[in-house]
Amino acid sequence: MGGARHNLISMESVHMERIAVLGLGIMGGGMAVNWLRKGYPTAVWNRTRAKAEALTAEGAIVAATPAAAAADADVIVAMVADDAASREVWLGSDGALAAAQPGALIVDSSTVTPNWIRELAAKAAERGCGFVDAPVGGSKQAAAEGQLVIFAGAEPEVFEKLRPVLGAVARVINHVGPVGAGATWKLINNMMVAIQISSLAEAMAMVARAGFDAKQVAGLIEASGFASGVIRGKLPRMMDHDYAAPDFNLSLMLKDTRYAVDMARTLGVDLKLAPAAAELFAAAERQGLGGGDVAGVAESVGAPAGGR
Ligand code: NAP
Repeated sequence: MGGARHNLISMESVHMERIAVLGLGIMGGGMAVNWLRKGYPTAVWNRTRAKAEALTAEGAIVAATPAAAAADADVIVAMVADDAASREVWLGSDGALAAAQPGALIVDSSTVTPNWIRELAAKAAERGCGFVDAPVGGSKQAAAEGQLVIFAGAEPEVFEKLRPVLGAVARVINHVGPVGAGATWKLINNMMVAIQISSLAEAMAMVARAGFDAKQVAGLIEASGFASGVIRGKLPRMMDHDYAAPDFNLSLMLKDTRYAVDMARTLGVDLKLAPAAAELFAAAERQGLGGGDVAGVAESVGAPAGGR
């Protein structure tokens, strides 16, 4: 009995797909751990090798280059900073795409532009590979716990092939349209995140200047109708001026906001709020806060947050 159950569990944990993960930052690192723990044979590569080595304890195979990680993989996932980083890992010297097996699935989960995604998807098709843009919602904790929300852009049959693999890192998987639709929605999504965080930063500056008790104000915000998960998440950091151990780097929020503004222009939408938010993030970056959590934007508003 016990033996049969053991066999069943072992069979459940054996998956056919071999995964390669390129980029093991806050998000890619968490995703790789979830694939490993759910039994997917996983090769990992990161520009800074130490982050890859840290995953050997989880059973990861560390590759020296993106190409080496990709060579034997059925599903190759990039989770890197921006368009330039994505271009580098897929198409640069020792890039993954030239080494991918025809028939492998190419997946980019980075927050990048739809233009780059469509260019990459065309190159994947030339290689005989399927393509999915699969950017994610949720931050460090969701990535670590396999609870991300995915916004996938793909042809339906390609998306269905990838769905079980995404299920290992996500609690919700949305197929939002053809290739590029995931990237497009993610930029609209993050434009709203950027504006919410900027609005909280400006509110906290006024709170401080007006002399309110910061703890009382925190309670008012918590109890309000506008307190989103984003607002709730960033409020304690702004109150404590705590931007260390970031959940989401301020520089990446600036990048997303700029990408959203550019994309809106190509869609014929003249955004007003997002460019203003981008100015605040850029000011914070100039203050040296780019590598800290995005909540550090509070420091660029010109008044200390938290009622100090
Ligand atoms: P992160 O911790 O800063 O990691 C960035 C990753 O990109 C690292 O692996 C980094 O390598 C790599 N990288 C940067 N430039 C590169 C280049 N030129 N060539 C190769 N690799 C390069 O960022 P993250 O939070 O994991 O974010 C990854 C992506 O997910 C971004 O597009 C971000 O906007 C998006 N995202 C983040 C969150 C979040 O809450 N954190 C949520 C949703 C989506 P090194 O280790 O060598 O620096």
